[in-house]
Amino acid sequence: MWLVCTRRCGGTLFRALFAEVIVDAGGRYRDHQIVQPGYLCVSCGAPAADLSAVPESMAEDAAAESAPVAVDVLCPRCETRVTIFPGEECPNCGAELEVA
Ligand SMILES: [Zn+2]
Ligand SMILES: [Zn+2]
Repeated sequence: MWLVCTRRCGGTLFRALFAEVIVDAGGRYRDHQIVQPGYLCVSCGAPAADLSAVPESMAEDAAAESAPVAVDVLCPRCETRVTIFPGEECPNCGAELEVA
């Protein structure tokens, strides 16, 4: 986990919104458990974002949009198997190629 303040106030302490704190008979902190993820910046009260979750979802987005992938097609005009990116022409004869 890597929490940052969404207001970028520079605060480095965060408060769990939904946490159960377990105390002993004297009320002293013993343990806690996070019931549901959700944190507030202690300095300014803005919600905190977990940056460690972001690179993963950004990587998924990038994969979903994905850079064009080269494909092998058989050119119908010169009958050569060529490797092209979608939208490119046959490098041998310049024929327009349909990439399924
Ligand atoms: Zn803050
Ligand atoms: Zn061709």
